[in-house]
Order: sequence, then structure tokens, then C-alpha cells
Amino acid sequence: MKDSEAIVESIDRVAVVGAGTMGNGIAQVFAQSGYPVTVIDPFEEALQKARGTIETNLGRFVKKEKITSDEAQAALGRIAFETDIKAADGVQWGIEAVPESEELKKEVLQRLDAAVADGGVIASNTSSISITRLAAFTGRPENFVGMHFFNPVPMMKLVEVIRGHKTSDAVLEATCELSKKLGKSPVEANDFPGFIANRILGPMLNEAIFCLMEGVARPEAIDEVMKLGMGHPMGPLALADFIGLDVCLNILEVLHKELGDPKYRPCPLLRKMVAAGDLGRKSGRGFYDYS
Ligand code: NAD
Repeated sequence: MKDSEAIVESIDRVAVVGAGTMGNGIAQVFAQSGYPVTVIDPFEEALQKARGTIETNLGRFVKKEKITSDEAQAALGRIAFETDIKAADGVQWGIEAVPESEELKKEVLQRLDAAVADGGVIASNTSSISITRLAAFTGRPENFVGMHFFNPVPMMKLVEVIRGHKTSDAVLEATCELSKKLGKSPVEANDFPGFIANRILGPMLNEAIFCLMEGVARPEAIDEVMKLGMGHPMGPLALADFIGLDVCLNILEVLHKELGDPKYRPCPLLRKMVAAGDLGRKSGRGFYDYS
């Protein structure tokens, strides 16, 4: 079995499956760190959008003089866009960033497992699905790991590195080393619902929504207290709008169902807003109006 250094050194190309919000950011950071990347998404339109987003984001870095325009061009030149998952054939490192549905991830991971080189690693960017369960969909649970990036990926330093029940020590260490090579700060977590970030964030946002529902204070007041009193850069209600209220509800449902503790019960106001289609920024209305 390879040690962590050998695993990282063997990576000559990376496949990112899913070209959405997270996938295009992940592809960008790998390409900026010198890795050839193949981004795979069955929807041509999603690939075109991803390319546009990466170009815009690299352009912003050039404007801010964080990178030169030659470096931006070189990074973009390292990224290939493909519709067929077979384009991942023979890669040593594959990352899955398709929508948060266990059924869909199962199908994609089985196909990715067939493509990634023997001895190669598969990482999932899931926010809430058990890494141990996802690993069991593949024939390589010891070479399977959680690599949870944060949005926007090119800006956010944190990567939660999640050890599934069978993840090997070498693969866990390699994931941390690789994250550092991408300029990120890896933090290890074991495989429990919500890992670290969402386990703590979910209940905090939920409590802010309970405060609003019970009439403790207006949204602006709740957010102001957490900004000025706790030093948070964004208040919890504004943050929930930014994340998407449907995504927040999903995180709480997972915590509630899998940990079985009533303290994770999603606030009825959150359920009502999601049912009404008020999903936050992306729908134009959440706790605040964005129209
Ligand atoms: P998204 O909807 O923006 O993108 C998903 C992409 O996957 C889309 O481009 C879609 O066309 C593509 N896709 C659908 N079916 C596919 C298939 N069979 N094969 C390949 N690609 C397919 O989703 P996202 O926000 O980027 O989330 C992706 C993953 O990252 C989820 O597991 C999510 O929980 C996790 N995550 C999201 C965030 C966030 O803030 N958005 C943060 C951390 C982790």
C-alpha cells in the first residue's frame, strides 16, 4: 500500500464530477495549483456556465493582482470539460460534486469507481451524507474520503477532511497534504452527521429562526446581535438566505433523523418558508427581500 506522500505524488490529473457551484470552484483551485483537471457534467450548458464562472473568477484575481493574466490563462488551459464520465479513465484522484441526493451519488460513484485508476482515490464533497455509506457504493472504501470544500471555493480556506469507517490513514493524510498544496487549511473530522461545520451551524441558524418565529426580535436585530456581539461577519438570518433555506432545512433534517435528538427539530417557520418557495437569495426572497 502506498504512503500518503506517494499517493499525492502519483496524482497527474484530477477528475471533478459535477460542474455546479462547488465543482467549478474545486476545478479552479486544482488548476491554479498546476493540476490538469477534467470537469465532467452530462449537461453541456452546465459545462459552459462553469467555464464562464472560472474565467470570471480568474479575471477577478488578475484585477486584484493576486495572479498574473498569464497564470490565469495557464490555469484555464489546464481544464478540460467533458460530458462523459469515461473521461475520468485512469485518473488517480476523482472528486464527486453532484447534487446532494444519495441515489444520484450512488450511480455517479459506481461509474467513477469504474473509471478511477486502481489504487486511486475517490473523494466526495457531500455536506451531509455519510462518507461510510457513500464509500460502500464503491469497491474501494479504504481509498474513499470526504473532502468538504466551502463556498466560494477559490476564497474559502477551509477543507473538512472526513474519515469514513474504512478510510485508510494514508488516504486521510494524503487528503490533508493535497488540501495544503491547494493553499487550503484541512481540518480532520470523523464520519458523524453534519461533520463539524454543519453540526454546529445548523442548530445555530435554526435557533435564530425560532427567535424570529417566537417574536424575540426582528430579523435585523437578530443579525445585528450576532455580528456586533459575537463578531460574526454575517448575521444568521442573512447567512441562511445566502446558503438557501432549502439547503438549511435539508441539513437540519439529516441531523434530526440521523442523530435522533429532538434538539435538531427544524423550526416550523423554516419549513413554511421553504414550502412557500421563499428560499433566500436564489429565489429573491427569504428573511430579507432581494428583488
Ligand atoms: P449544484 O447544483 O450547483 O451543481 C451540481 C452539478 O452536478 C450540476 O452542474 C449538475 O448538472 C451536475 N450533475 C447532475 N447530475 C450529474 C451526473 N449524473 N453526473 C455529473 N454531474 C451531474 O450543486 P453544488 O452546490 O455544487 O453542490 C454539489 C455538492 O457539494 C453537494 O453534495 C453539496 O451538498 C455539496 N456542497 C455544497 C456547498 C454549497 O454551498 N453549495 C458547500 C459545500 C458542499
